[in-house]
Amino acid sequence: MSAAKLLSRLEKVRPTRPGNWVACCPAHDDRNPSLAICEKQDGRLLIRCFAGCEAPSILSAVGMEFQDLFPPRGLGHHVKRERYPFPAADILYAIGFEALIVATTASSILAGEPLNAADRERLALAVCRIHAALDAGGLNHE
Ligand SMILES: [Zn+2]
Repeated sequence: MSAAKLLSRLEKVRPTRPGNWVACCPAHDDRNPSLAICEKQDGRLLIRCFAGCEAPSILSAVGMEFQDLFPPRGLGHHVKRERYPFPAADILYAIGFEALIVATTASSILAGEPLNAADRERLALAVCRIHAALDAGGLNHE
C-alpha cells in the first residue's frame, strides 16, 4: 500500500506496467514525467528521477521519509538488492524524449538560428538525463 500513498502525492502519474509508474518529479520543475516508481514483490518501493534528483529530496518534496519506501516490519531486510530494477521501456521513454530535445536543437542550429542561454541549458540537461537513464539501465560504463 505504500505505492498508493506515494502516487497520491505525485502529478501526472501513469502506469507503465504492473507495479511500475512514471510521474512528474516533485523535486524539480518537471513537465514531462521523469520519475520512475517501481513497487517490488516484497513491498519495497524504488524511485528514480531521470533528471538526477536524489531520493531524499524527492521524498521530502512530498512529505515522506526514506522508511516509507519499505514495507512495515522490515520484510525487505534480507532481500538481495537488484542492480537494474527499472523496466527497459521506462528508460527508453526517458531517452526518447530527450533525443527529441536534441533533435529539435540540432535542427535550429542547422537552420542558422542562434541558441539562447535557455536552449543551451536545456541541451545540457538532455545530455545529463540520457546519461542518468543509461546509468539506471546499468549501461553507463564511462
Ligand atoms: Zn527530479
